[in-house]
Amino acid sequence: MNEAKYIWMNGAMKPWAEAQTHVLSHTLHYGNGVIEGTKAYKTAKGYAIFRLNDHTSRLIESAKMTLISIPYSVEELNAAQIELIAKNNFTGDNVYLRPFAFLGYGAMGVYHKDAPVETAIAAWEWGAYLGDEGMEKGIKLKIASMSRPANTSNMGKAKAAANYLNSQMAKYEAIDCGYDEALLLDDQGYVAEASGACFFMIKDGVIISPPNDNSLASITQKTVIEMAQNMGYEVVRRRITREEIYVADEAFLTGTAAEITPIRLIDAREIGNGSRGLITQEIQRAYFDIVFGRDPNYEHYLTYITGT
Ligand code: PMP
Repeated sequence: MNEAKYIWMNGAMKPWAEAQTHVLSHTLHYGNGVIEGTKAYKTAKGYAIFRLNDHTSRLIESAKMTLISIPYSVEELNAAQIELIAKNNFTGDNVYLRPFAFLGYGAMGVYHKDAPVETAIAAWEWGAYLGDEGMEKGIKLKIASMSRPANTSNMGKAKAAANYLNSQMAKYEAIDCGYDEALLLDDQGYVAEASGACFFMIKDGVIISPPNDNSLASITQKTVIEMAQNMGYEVVRRRITREEIYVADEAFLTGTAAEITPIRLIDAREIGNGSRGLITQEIQRAYFDIVFGRDPNYEHYLTYITGT
């Protein structure tokens, strides 16, 4: 990975190599931790973090859901992320931020109330999550053999580290089968989300994305819906079945890291003409205009970092 200079940990900037934890940290054993994934882009006015407050608020909410008490406010964590970008002297276009909280050393056993909460933020330069070629030509998606856990068993809306075991198994299977990414259905057989991104399809000019009944409330999904409506498209949130996606005109994934990634194939069925669709391309361009600060209508989503 691309190392940076500093990691913010428990209120202080630490050199990258010194941001460490004990092997008996509670989260390493029982998996209760929360993460966020936020991005900063190099705009003409320096680095800007996209929807910083929304991401930090989601971290705090995920922690509340999973009974982790983060001892910092949204404002303090926002300030820490701004300082981290400023101090790391990045040069590339894309910087990924990973704020997270985990349970540290000091208590063992499943009951976690006595385990200390550690809060950290790392940031590093990270390009296209599903590859530059995928962004242009589209990726191959496989419906995973595992489904997203039912709402009676898990909390899909928490960006909880533990949820990523399910994602990880699905992603591994997809890649092992020659695909790029996994799509997970919910326990009823409706589309939930990809292993680390949200799903959209287009049919007869209408943009359709599933509700977040069983998935993360994606900030990029929300942004794309707002953008697409402003562009004049009809956007519908409804449940989607497997056979519908096979005959979609276009499909794409959205996510902070995935950005807008076109889908060219799902389970051996070509989507549309088997490459990036025209509406997908339009949305992709518009999204990059927003995050790189080229669209004044969405400036309020950018937190500029002075001196970068
Ligand atoms: N679903 C999952 C499981 C994810 O990990 C992500 C990435 N954070 C998303 C959806 C997309 O969410 P966002 O647009 O907020 O990054």
